[in-house]
Amino acid sequence: MNAITPQPSCADPFDKEALPVQEALHRILDAVEAVSGYEKLALRSALGRILAQAVVSPMAVPAHTNAAVDGYAVRVADAPLTGTVELRVIGTAWAGSSFSGRVEAGEAVRIMTGAVVPPGADSIVMQEHAERDGDWVRIGPGPKSRQNIRLAGEDLAAGMAVLEEGRRLSPADLGLLASLGITELRVRRRLRVAFFSTGDELRSLGEILAEGEIYDSNRYTLYGMLQQLGVELLDMGVVRDRREDLAMAIEEAARHADVIITSGGVSVGEADFIKEILAELGQVNFWKIAMKPGRPLAFGRIGKSLFFGLPGNPVSVMVTYYEFVQPALRRMMGEAVIDSPRFKVPCATRLRKKPGRTEFQRGILETQADGSLMVRGTGDQGSGILRTMSRANCLIVLPHDGGTIEPGTWVDVQPFHGLM
Ligand code: AMP
Ligand code: MG
Repeated sequence: MNAITPQPSCADPFDKEALPVQEALHRILDAVEAVSGYEKLALRSALGRILAQAVVSPMAVPAHTNAAVDGYAVRVADAPLTGTVELRVIGTAWAGSSFSGRVEAGEAVRIMTGAVVPPGADSIVMQEHAERDGDWVRIGPGPKSRQNIRLAGEDLAAGMAVLEEGRRLSPADLGLLASLGITELRVRRRLRVAFFSTGDELRSLGEILAEGEIYDSNRYTLYGMLQQLGVELLDMGVVRDRREDLAMAIEEAARHADVIITSGGVSVGEADFIKEILAELGQVNFWKIAMKPGRPLAFGRIGKSLFFGLPGNPVSVMVTYYEFVQPALRRMMGEAVIDSPRFKVPCATRLRKKPGRTEFQRGILETQADGSLMVRGTGDQGSGILRTMSRANCLIVLPHDGGTIEPGTWVDVQPFHGLM
């Protein structure tokens, strides 16, 4: 693991030294590298896992030149220039059961989709363009060489690089690998992530809420996000804002996990107390990031584990997770490409924004009647309002320097599909 660049000092909320989002991400990614450790998995179990080897095709796909349609295998040289010609049908080629002979001048073979093209034939005439009459078939002018024929190796040539190392295996990949007869793959080991919530006001589900207490929701959003990413989870529950409890939980997490994620307790009022504990146990920096939501973020290392102290507010947790934690986890998982889709669309609504920080506003991306995409804000952007996060299907990313967005302005969006 690489060294972590220390934080700039930054005391007041609109400090010029607050860390820009890009810089924070840069520092985080600089400090992480892929875990070592691999396992061999059966093809199906490898879905969503990160490939730890490049895959080279052991064979050509398709293995044989075959018909792309149902019809007649013919010789282009036999086709008439005008009018029609009758060819003698000498047999049938089925998918999985080839015709054993050869197509000679004046002959044709009835052929089904996927059947091996018999030697001698160089074109397939679709059955819709042929007229069968007993042992004879009538065709017109125009068949071209290789027409309706899938050449051996046209999907994959033997020895061709098929999948790169560091790829997250998709359903198409599983099919592709199956088409090559590959049954087992080497993938990176699973990342182990421990997480807990901090706060005296938090209760776990099933408990009775007393005055001023709330249910712990962050552990559920974190569970969802981490589960979807495909890591091994260690849910450590709620930890009280007490020195010994926190120290114990952090030490315990560091013994078992590659990454520790906490929420709450890093905002200005509470930071000093946690800061002390984290300083004793490891090397953690407290950053103020020029962003909304999610200003405070603690990042560093406890023992061999990477540590992320996320803010407590429910939407801040999700945004800081997606913008900072998830890219780092993806890199640690060994994924070669860690970017999420981001593109520009016009915004239908006015979005209030202050210059000097990147804002991640909740948006709803919709296809208009004319087929074009448009985004609108979800309304209430409070960092505790999960309702609008739940209604949103994207984040609208408003850049550091810009101000309020007027309707019709093009904005950057990160769709949840592909991000989540
Ligand atoms: P903190 O960063 O600890 O000051 O928390 C900021 C706000 O987020 C407070 O209103 C907390 O009650 C709330 N909060 C902290 N942790 C959680 C949690 N796990 N679930 C729901 N709300 C939380
Ligand atoms: Mg708290």
